[in-house]
Amino acid sequence: MTLADIEVANLDTKPIFQNQVKKSLSVINTLYPGTFVYVYLLDERGSFTLRDLETNQGHLVTTISPEMSIFVILQTQKEFCSHLIANKDNSEIFAQKIPAESESSLISPIGYEDSLVGFLFTIIPVALEPSSLNLKVFDDLAMSLGSASVASELLHQFKSRSDQLAIMLEVNTHLNMAATKEDYLYEISRFGKYFIQFDRAVLVLKSEEAPEYFLIDYIEGDSIGLQLGMSYPLYNSLVSQSINSGQYFIYKKSYEESLVGIYHDGDTDEYPYKQVVGFPLARIKNSPGVLILESLDEHPIKQNEINIFGMISQGLGAALNRFRLYERLTNYATVDTLTHLYNLRAIKQRFEEELARAGRYQNSLVVLFLDLDKFKSVNDNHGHLMGDFVLRETAQIIRDSIRTSDIPGRYGGEEFVVIMVNTDAQSCMASAQRICTAIHDHNYEMNDVRITTKISIGLAEYPKDGSNMQELIQSADTAMYTAKARGGNQVIQYEKGMVPKSKVN
Ligand code: GH3
Ligand code: MG
Ligand code: MG
Repeated sequence: MTLADIEVANLDTKPIFQNQVKKSLSVINTLYPGTFVYVYLLDERGSFTLRDLETNQGHLVTTISPEMSIFVILQTQKEFCSHLIANKDNSEIFAQKIPAESESSLISPIGYEDSLVGFLFTIIPVALEPSSLNLKVFDDLAMSLGSASVASELLHQFKSRSDQLAIMLEVNTHLNMAATKEDYLYEISRFGKYFIQFDRAVLVLKSEEAPEYFLIDYIEGDSIGLQLGMSYPLYNSLVSQSINSGQYFIYKKSYEESLVGIYHDGDTDEYPYKQVVGFPLARIKNSPGVLILESLDEHPIKQNEINIFGMISQGLGAALNRFRLYERLTNYATVDTLTHLYNLRAIKQRFEEELARAGRYQNSLVVLFLDLDKFKSVNDNHGHLMGDFVLRETAQIIRDSIRTSDIPGRYGGEEFVVIMVNTDAQSCMASAQRICTAIHDHNYEMNDVRITTKISIGLAEYPKDGSNMQELIQSADTAMYTAKARGGNQVIQYEKGMVPKSKVN
């Protein structure tokens, strides 16, 4: 096979972006059912074009030229974040009056302040109150798409370098398939050896908590002189210079330049590597990190190799951003924003998974159903903020009272569930009792208001009290209701013959 036989079409970089779009849109659909999200990207003519993705519905304007008002709005926004547009409250910015009944829409810019690459256009159904949307979710989604588009753009540049076409084909395919940071780094160091011979690869990232430091994030090869997680001041070393300037660096021992160090002051004295090349993860001042390749021997490095590795490192930078943002998006969809416990959807999913596992291994499993006593009176007497505070503190008490393998979730308003795996009802009774007492003994204190509260807990066991999720939750709820009927502030284990709440009233 010759280079010419390799079909350039195989290098299509679209899948990486489309996959990202698909994954992200499913997050939005889960969070906000009924919304439609469309992607507009800047084209060569300077207009925004509606991307031909599966999600498109086809009744929208396909091209938005620079004269159109939406363009002007994007450009004149003071902050680069999601904005509600075209709803009844801000209709005056549009030429037409918008009817009060109409749906609203949201625009979320994609890219960075000096390089807008497109925007997301979200149509919010009339049934959904726009103020209930967490705009940060949309901002993060747009950000992650921005990174994905940078990554596909970089891969697109590979395409034009026919000299390395065969290797690029492989690199591209494998990098595209990498689903995690570890896979991505593994592929980079595997393919990196085609371009630059090295003995150790080190990834350093700028610290998010302390921006004046960088951290050793990943080491492939021996760890002489370094330790994972170790931080160094962003000052006076080749790595620091590369992060600060966004420029690559090459160090060769034989140059004998007056040098402060690679990672920190003076580290070149006992340093075993004779040649080091560092590539910033973005070619901007204050780059997010550097990929460092170290070799025990000196050997010539071609400009061509530098260029290629420069691109790979930038691709890595964009991918890291993407992985991190996607993690955050997944988090939004599974975590309850008030209590940071699993939300209803996630706890049900975890419950199903654990039940399947328990069924397979014939283990028992216990579910607790918890409901605060007379919680309505907290809201009525002290306001909703106090109510929210009590819910947050209660969630923390629950978390603190159970084992790390137990799974706590918020089932609804002031109702929680805990799934306890690999255990029996007797030990769970003790944990449940611990939660009950801890809540009863706790002083909930906010802004000098101090109250106490109580909780009722029902316990049901698989397979004795139910063979599936619905039956088990029903049994635990029935036991919880029995606890309430007996005055609350107690734990009751389900027994056959207990009357479900719905049958009493
Ligand atoms: P019982 O002892 O029978 O459980 O009585 P209760 O007052 O706890 O139960 P009820 O179900 O009547 O009331 C639950 C209240 O929880 C009603 C609702 O206002 C409140 N609530 C639900 N979700 C939230 C929330 O997110 N924040 C606040 N502050 N209150 C909430
Ligand atoms: Mg309730
Ligand atoms: Mg209650």
